[in-house]
Amino acid sequence: METERILAFLRDEIHTAVMATADDSGNPVTCAIDVMDGDGSGLYFLTAKGKNFYARLKARGFAALTGIAGDSTMTRVAVSVRGKVKEQRRDVLRRLLEKNPYMYEIYPTEVSREGLVAFRLYEGEGEWFDLSKKPVERQSFSFGGAETAADGYFIGWDCIGCGKCLDVCPQSCIRLLKPPAVIVQEHCLRCGNCAAACPAGAVRKGGVKAPAP
Ligand code: SF4
Ligand code: SF4
Repeated sequence: METERILAFLRDEIHTAVMATADDSGNPVTCAIDVMDGDGSGLYFLTAKGKNFYARLKARGFAALTGIAGDSTMTRVAVSVRGKVKEQRRDVLRRLLEKNPYMYEIYPTEVSREGLVAFRLYEGEGEWFDLSKKPVERQSFSFGGAETAADGYFIGWDCIGCGKCLDVCPQSCIRLLKPPAVIVQEHCLRCGNCAAACPAGAVRKGGVKAPAP
């Protein structure tokens, strides 16, 4: 799925997400935000200048969020995004308010909206995770020029083809026609069972592969 469609899903189907920022000690603090706009190049949200959340955004310039859609665990889609954030001009705030008119009920007067400020999460990466599919579906994505981190598990050429990893994989997402076995990344839970079970140490995290023979 294209990044634009994933971020549009976050904006339209999830809309309210939990965002984490770091405090002065580097510890995480979460709060609920609404994803008020978004396209293939980033996401927009707003806050008020008097909030500690605003101070954390300005101090760190970085935030992470997770939004969830679906009624129960086995029908849920989760979208996680992390990246750089930047305060936006006043005209961006006006556009966000027009697109999300319920904000006029929370901040009903012009003067009460004076302290509002818009932010854009403009460069980052994320993950789509769909538990409603069997096997599960996951997809990494990036936007604004950020690279997608290769943080899954990968099997190297030192695989001896014993098949032990297939027995412990909860999603049956390892294929072994001939060594090396291959992990189907879009169905992988990244649980690490395969790495723990491999007698050859051939399963590695983060895309570090053994050299070809
Ligand atoms: S990390 Fe878990 S889900 Fe992914 S291939 Fe290994 S055992 Fe299967
Ligand atoms: S357990 Fe290790 S050596 Fe055996 S098939 Fe899986 S990756 Fe290859």
